[in-house]
Formats: sequence, structure tokens, C-alpha cells
Amino acid sequence: MKLISLPAFADNYLWLWQQDSHAVVVDPGDAQPVLEALAREGLTLDAILVTHHHADHIGGVDALRQATGAPVWGPAREDIPEPFMPVMDADHLELLGHKVQVIDVPGHTAGHVAYFVATAPESPVLFCGDTLFSAGCGRVFEGTPAQMLASLDTLAALPGNTRICCAHEYTLSNLRFASAVEPHNLALHAYTTHCQALRAQGRPTLPAQLATELQINPFLRTRHPDVRQAVAHHAGLGNTQATDEVAVFAALRQWKNDFK
Ligand code: ZN
Ligand code: FE
Repeated sequence: MKLISLPAFADNYLWLWQQDSHAVVVDPGDAQPVLEALAREGLTLDAILVTHHHADHIGGVDALRQATGAPVWGPAREDIPEPFMPVMDADHLELLGHKVQVIDVPGHTAGHVAYFVATAPESPVLFCGDTLFSAGCGRVFEGTPAQMLASLDTLAALPGNTRICCAHEYTLSNLRFASAVEPHNLALHAYTTHCQALRAQGRPTLPAQLATELQINPFLRTRHPDVRQAVAHHAGLGNTQATDEVAVFAALRQWKNDFK
């Protein structure tokens, strides 16, 4: 099994999950890099998975379906190019000989889903679109902060060795923000050095490991006293708000939105 991150647009990754001569693509915002990779590696496309309706995730769906005949699965509550098979929480797909679990992760969009492969060789794999990023999370566009926090909590409860395949290379700028929130987090400093070296060599920082994210991603650490205090201080939260986990998460997300 191989995970191939195909760069697209300014900072997207289209994920190709390969097993022998077959592959599944997740969030093909553009068909061209996917078709090139399929031809280069001699792969048959078995399925197209979509996490949410944004253009940089569905732009290549029609062209790929036409070129390969691969079926499309996507979130039941979102506008995905028809025809597609709607999925929702706790659904299971059978792809490339593995069970793929659908997890509802609303917040970035109202119907966003993630795909989890528990039995992937070596370690589990999560395709989470724009929900969880390395050292960050997606903007809360259609859902509420409470939904996004609950979605991130669900993902955080997956096995620590899960490989996180998110849809954007935002890691270095996320790490810069994370360091502003937690200047004394040593794991964060070490991981920043590691990711800077990867990017300097033109390599992706992804997939990230969930266990690492739990140590360095402020959006998975909103209950940690250091994060809570930093957010309360930055946003001027009173005592009641500073102990309300949704208020802390919302203020952290707002801090990141405004961060230069
Ligand atoms: Zn998006
Ligand atoms: Fe996106």
C-alpha cells in the first residue's frame, strides 16, 4: 500500500491511495494530476471519495469519472457533482480490500465527512479534507465552533499511529501560529525544525501522525492549561468563558483567523 500526495493549485494535496495496481483518490480538485499519476503508475481507479463540496476538492470529479468510470462517494448532505453515492456517519465502504469507515465531521462545512481505514497496512489512515490540518484545523465556515470542536475530538480519539492525510500543506504557517500560542512547547519546536527541513527539500509534511498532532496542534489542545491560559489572555476571556471549552476553542480559531 502506498499513499501518494499529488500537489495541486497553490497548496492542495490530492491523495491517491494505492494498493497493487488499483487506487482510490480523495478530493480530486483537479483531474489532470490524478490522470497523470494513474498513467505513470499503471493504476486502475476504483473509487473517487469526496470529503466536502468546496471547489478545490470536487473540481476534477466529473472529468475523472468520465475518463475512468470510477464511482463517486460523497457526503449525503452536500452538493457533490451527480451522480454520487451519499455516505454518512458510521457507513462502511469496501475499497481496495479494506473497510473504510465514514465519520461525520461538520464544522468547516455543514456536511463534511472523513474516511478512516483502520486496517491499512502498517498503521491506520485518515482522509480528513479540511477538518484537521497538521498543527491546525479548517476554518469554521458553515458549522459552529461547538461542532468543529466535537469533530476534532472524534478524530483525536482515533489510534495515535493514525496517518493524517489532510488536503492542504499549511503546516509551516500553522506551526508559526502554534508557537505563538505555546511558546514553551518543546515538542512543537522540535517538530517545526523537522517540518522546515522537509519543506526546504520540497517534500510534503504529510501524512502527519495523530500522536504528534496531540502534542503540537493547539486545536487539539484547547483543554491544556497552557493553551487555555494563552487564549484567555489573548482574547480577554473572563473566568466563566475561560473554563467553557467551546468559548476557548472559538477564541483560538478567531485568533488564528486574525494572525499575521
Ligand atoms: Zn474546504
Ligand atoms: Fe480546501
